[in-house]
Amino acid sequence: MQNQEPGLTVEGIVGGVPERWTGKGVVYWRDPSGYLKKLAKRCIDKYFPALTYVNVLFVWKRPFRSTDDYCPVPAFIRLLSKKDRDIFGYDVVFEVDPESFLALSRRDQRRAVYHLLRHVGVVMNEDMTPERDVYGRVQLVLEKHDLYIRSFKDEVRRFGTQAAYQRVVNFLGGVESPTPS
Ligand SMILES: [Zn+2]
Repeated sequence: MQNQEPGLTVEGIVGGVPERWTGKGVVYWRDPSGYLKKLAKRCIDKYFPALTYVNVLFVWKRPFRSTDDYCPVPAFIRLLSKKDRDIFGYDVVFEVDPESFLALSRRDQRRAVYHLLRHVGVVMNEDMTPERDVYGRVQLVLEKHDLYIRSFKDEVRRFGTQAAYQRVVNFLGGVESPTPS
């Protein structure tokens, strides 16, 4: 694959990694290459400074479930329970399908990382410090998508866009794709 870092292959990521466990036929393993963390750090520095208060665990996961109805990226993000946060020291798990993610262009990889990180909201105080609970845990929320188009093409052709979606259509009509970088 031409779009990946030199020396980074799916096999290379898997090889020799002890942090690996199974459940329901799914296998997860930590990303020992630092590849995902590096992409995420750039994104956090640029767009989501509040996430510097969040400990993210980056893992590869296979097989990966279809994301068609949820995140349109070969990756998923979830908040850990309070118990798991306390035990493991991570707040959020960032799960990525290595095969489809590494096949993306670098730009689409950055977009996927942006998409997932965009889901994590840090509750901030007025003085721009993170709100914490009595045990010192940073308060997090999982942000839902703010654009929804759940419809059928033939339905839209026959009946037009539902009123609730018309605002989305208007919005998208005014959006210009930035020049690929
Ligand atoms: Zn999403």
